[in-house]
Amino acid sequence: MNAQLKPFAATDFRLLIGGQLVSGASTFDVINPATEQVLAAAPRADLAQLNLAVAAAKSAFPAWAGRPLAERSQLLLKLADALAARSEEIAHLLTQEQGKPLAAARFEVGGAIGITRVIAGMELPVKVLQETASTRIVQQRTPLGVVAAITPWNFPLILLMTKVAPALLAGNTVVAKPAATTPLTTLRLGELCAQIFPAGVVNVIADANDLGSALTSHPDVAKVAFTGSTATGKKVMASVAATVKRLTLELGGNDAAIVLDDVDPKEVAPKIFHAAMINSGQVCLAAKRVYVHDSMYDALCAELAKLADAAVVGNGLDAATQFGPLQNKAQYDKVQGFVAEARQRGTIVAGGTPVAGPGYFIRPTIVRDMPEDARLVREEQFGPVLPVLRYSNLDDAIARANATEYGLGATIWATDLNRAYEVALKIDSGTVWVNKHLDLPPDVPMGGAKQSGFGTEMGQDGLEEFTQAKIINIARS
Ligand code: ADP
Repeated sequence: MNAQLKPFAATDFRLLIGGQLVSGASTFDVINPATEQVLAAAPRADLAQLNLAVAAAKSAFPAWAGRPLAERSQLLLKLADALAARSEEIAHLLTQEQGKPLAAARFEVGGAIGITRVIAGMELPVKVLQETASTRIVQQRTPLGVVAAITPWNFPLILLMTKVAPALLAGNTVVAKPAATTPLTTLRLGELCAQIFPAGVVNVIADANDLGSALTSHPDVAKVAFTGSTATGKKVMASVAATVKRLTLELGGNDAAIVLDDVDPKEVAPKIFHAAMINSGQVCLAAKRVYVHDSMYDALCAELAKLADAAVVGNGLDAATQFGPLQNKAQYDKVQGFVAEARQRGTIVAGGTPVAGPGYFIRPTIVRDMPEDARLVREEQFGPVLPVLRYSNLDDAIARANATEYGLGATIWATDLNRAYEVALKIDSGTVWVNKHLDLPPDVPMGGAKQSGFGTEMGQDGLEEFTQAKIINIARS
């Protein structure tokens, strides 16, 4: 297996605070999950640096908010161009810190660029709500202030830009904080921002998973845009209450895929496999449990098992690799726990065997005949271990799909699209895809139902969440 491309020097990564690229108060090691070797020493901010970053964002806010939206848009487009110019290097860095195959890393960098460009093209027009001889009432969209952008380790760059781009376009300033196991691409993005935006408009700090609550509870932060686990999201929600901050939470999911009885199992199997295994299952919107009609249960399990057996798992820098490692040791251990449960309570028809050598690798694993109360069915596995469940009555499958505190996404696989639409209407989730998965255009809003989220990202709705709706109500006579 490839090791890293070249060793990084201790000075290769810097925090961005008040327009300056600076060292952290200390450093922490970032591990390449494919090799378990130290990839780089990342700068680690302390509380004083976090406070400096918030102060810099606060003092940069009035001037940034005062610039026309068109100028802010131009600078976002410059950032997209700068990211494009460095995209190969950043994709390689992303593969090394996150583990995903290089093609997927390139796709993520391209996605981050695309999101930035689409959001830069959006506007916040003044809405005239009433216009009569005696009154004029308009709604303005004004920026909020300092936005804290907190991101997880599965899609460090895309999930950063779904926050930073609309925050900046709307006239807010930003303090971004990546996950402790994947800070490097975010720090690179900070370097690009340092060359483009006025000092303090974008600040990037990195931590060892210890500064999140100081950031979300900071009195000078006006809004928190967070993607992460539901457990941490609940803590964030509690910590913003004291100052009634605005909040967007994109949290976990336990998305069901429902396979109707009119599909060809051979045809849908690769699509369902992809929906479950993309990013080695570490996707909030991955298909996490599949409900399959009795009439094709055995056939679909066999097709999924074939695909899992053929999967090429390895270091993401190797051209043949389709699936990288789990991103970190804690997640690897957690998913191994699900594999152990599957061995006891179900039938593993592919995968489930140890992978030799270093790296947090788990082969795509297909599990059939799991009871509905298994942890693998009830909880979010966030890894490449997929339970395939049997149903004979469609209403029963829908009820089982909905019997969860989560409500992020779902997929319906069907030939009769009208029937699929009827099923989609009955699923309690923010998004339902029919015969496709993870189609997330930046101009279409995305948000979770139930405990999968709060608020919306992307689309005009997502942009407006970075603003205050301000009513100006004028008597004309
Ligand atoms: P996981 O549990 O999968 O590691 P988390 O949801 O805990 O993921 O982490 C997502 C992001 O939230 C990371 O950037 C992490 O550092 C940050 N974070 C962790 N704890 C808190 C907290 N109490 N408040 C705010 N952010 C936090």
